[in-house]
Amino acid sequence: IISKLPGTKTSIFSVMSKMANDHNAINLSQGFPNFETDQKLKDLVTEAMNNGFNQYPPDSGVHELREQIVSKIKLLYGKSYDANTEITVTSGATEALYTAITAFVNKGDEVIVLKPAYDTYEPTIKLSGGIPIQIQLKGENYTVDWDEVRSAISSKTRMIIINTPHNPTGTILSEKDMLQLQEILSDTNVILLSDEVYEHLIFDKEQHQSASKFSELSERAIVCASFGKTFHNTGWKTGYCVAPEKLMKEIRKIHEVTVFSVNHPMQRAYAEYLKNADNYLKLSKFYQTKRDLFLNLIKDSKFTYTASKGTYYQLLNFSGITDENDVNFAERLVKEYGIASIPVSVFNINEKDNSQLRFCFAKTDDTLEMAAEILCKL
Ligand code: PMP
Ligand code: GLN
Repeated sequence: IISKLPGTKTSIFSVMSKMANDHNAINLSQGFPNFETDQKLKDLVTEAMNNGFNQYPPDSGVHELREQIVSKIKLLYGKSYDANTEITVTSGATEALYTAITAFVNKGDEVIVLKPAYDTYEPTIKLSGGIPIQIQLKGENYTVDWDEVRSAISSKTRMIIINTPHNPTGTILSEKDMLQLQEILSDTNVILLSDEVYEHLIFDKEQHQSASKFSELSERAIVCASFGKTFHNTGWKTGYCVAPEKLMKEIRKIHEVTVFSVNHPMQRAYAEYLKNADNYLKLSKFYQTKRDLFLNLIKDSKFTYTASKGTYYQLLNFSGITDENDVNFAERLVKEYGIASIPVSVFNINEKDNSQLRFCFAKTDDTLEMAAEILCKL
């Protein structure tokens, strides 16, 4: 068999979660909450099922849900999208990213990827015959060197992928970053793919800088989002993407032949739940409290860190504990200490990230306390 993705291994998220289960370890690796989604939302799904919404919904998503997405974006970022032509509900953000890349990247096209990067981007680019052009984020705060981005753009560049708030580092792009990106892309045909699955998880009174907020950028932007991340139900695998009609037309062609449409009762439930903006506006505070609890609990440990500014991940540097590499240390932590994390080097090309682990703090306070107790003993 000739593999289409010879260098691609089983996802680190599957590997670490399995290892955690096999060793009965506390699982702070794969990003999902260990607490329940809102009972109200579950009731809305049951209601939708009982009301007969059990057959195919429209391929681009339930219209009421697309309308609610439009209202949310208008409220938060001031941009008006058309629910009929510019929104598609997808099987998680994963499918949104896949369809967006597949719709536009052709053989030999270059796609700029900022490293560390989420694990699906590069394999998807390669499946379309595209060439990932990696640019390393810089320094302790993983900032973007926009001059480097500018010099990487050529006539072959088809797309650039950004992710804010950023997995795994917990950094965010500022308004200044977005304006620089807007300026760099003006006068080019480069498409912006903006992965914003953690848009509602942003801390310390910072504002999320969505690509939809910047009028010129939004004309070339495909924005991807995830209800699973937002509403504590990653297993429902529902998300969406937003793009100007000319781009969305092409995305929908791929969406139709990949999944056609996405589960119907969940879409009805989200449409109802989104009517109350507090359901998403309260999340930053909720997760900031968890971040603060976790950091406070480990403040006397030998780990060093910069506090996460968004997402539900915290990077911890362990060079004060051991000089082994992150993959070995992560494995030993599961097997010998009963705690699972994600080694950052798997997202990366940089040597420096061999001594950092990513911990997911979307966990009950009890779990965070048990985890911190172990981490403080190292
Ligand atoms: N992008 C990033 C940065 C992620 O962390 C994840 C994981 N949720 C996804 C995309 C995929 O999201 P979903 O679970 O909705 O497919
Ligand atoms: N996005 C999640 C994370 O970063 C995992 C999603 C997955 O398991 N594919 O942990």
